[in-house]
Amino acid sequence: MLPYGRQSIDEEDIDAVVRILRGDWLTTGPTVAEFERAVGELAGGHRAVSVTSGTSALHAAYSALGLSDGDDVVTTPMTFVATASTASVLGANVIFADIDDETGLIDPAAVDAVATDRTRVIAAVDYAGQAAEYDRLQAIADRVGAVTLDDAAHSIGGTYRGRPVGDLADVTTFSFFPTKNMTTGEGGAVVCKDPALAQRVHEFHFIGLVRDPDRFEITDEGPWHQEVHEFGLNYRLTDIASALGLAQLKRLERFKQRRTEIVARYNAAFADVEGVRTPGQRDDTDPMWHLYPLRVLDGRRREVFEKVRAAGVGVQVNYIPVYWHPVYANAGYRRGMCPNAEAFYAEELSLPIFPDLTDSQVDQVVETLVGALR
Ligand SMILES: *Cc1c(COP(=O)(O)O)cnc(C)c1O
Repeated sequence: MLPYGRQSIDEEDIDAVVRILRGDWLTTGPTVAEFERAVGELAGGHRAVSVTSGTSALHAAYSALGLSDGDDVVTTPMTFVATASTASVLGANVIFADIDDETGLIDPAAVDAVATDRTRVIAAVDYAGQAAEYDRLQAIADRVGAVTLDDAAHSIGGTYRGRPVGDLADVTTFSFFPTKNMTTGEGGAVVCKDPALAQRVHEFHFIGLVRDPDRFEITDEGPWHQEVHEFGLNYRLTDIASALGLAQLKRLERFKQRRTEIVARYNAAFADVEGVRTPGQRDDTDPMWHLYPLRVLDGRRREVFEKVRAAGVGVQVNYIPVYWHPVYANAGYRRGMCPNAEAFYAEELSLPIFPDLTDSQVDQVVETLVGALR
């Protein structure tokens, strides 16, 4: 089965990991710090804290923001469940704002309609790798006193109005899962524009340990002393994973280039095919395409999915609207609340896209799909 996404690993990646295994630090060592500096530099020059996954990045970000009972988080239903669920586990009230039908991105007008002074976070997702409309989202956030969060699990390396992902929202989270744009196995990162918030993320992902003597509340222990002021978890990324991440970062531009070529090839191939619609792209973004979200029209998505899968092409569907998950439905979220997202979901089919996908494999996917439509 041709997968819809997969990692690209070369000998340099392997050597980088092996070097760590032969060294002194498997975790909490200098390679973690080096990886965090490199991610931060790529993401607008802000501090990055590496964590164990995109999910823990979101959880750490929301926790550091102090999200709790009674706070509203406004987000998109067209995302992986973790964007919302990590806020819900902290007791926040998640409000879903509908998407733009062209791009699958959260619609600022829909956000504007539900944002109030209870809104603490406006969490956008750069669906498929294209940045959301942060200038408009930030203006809404500023009006109601909220912060913006960019779930950039799809979009590391992308830009919006000439600014890099990581510099678009107050807080940005990344995922380094193997199907994403670069990988550390499992892994993620949080990037914060506010250094004090970044420090809170750091402490949260490090069990809440405070190690700066100037901040100690207990002052009469000894040189071994460290103390906890607020609860945290162990979400630390290892040096092993960080070495892989550093090696991957060196090829990120090449990955982006290849993903862009694949999108162009699909767009050209499907331009005149009836019964499908190619993904919309705004002209103020330079996406890092993580997904190729084709739309299959006329109620034929499931039929096409099944035929194409049976022919060995590992298509996917991204995503079921988050509030359809029983954990939200059982809490009273009703179908029909975001009609654009539901219509988008009904048609969406993610085609294979990853750096090592060849032109002839792309052509094979197109042929299989066109065959399934006949
Ligand atoms: C993958 C993903 C996540 C979660 O990342 P993990 O590393 O798998 O935990 C969160 N949000 C979005 C939009 C994702 O695609």
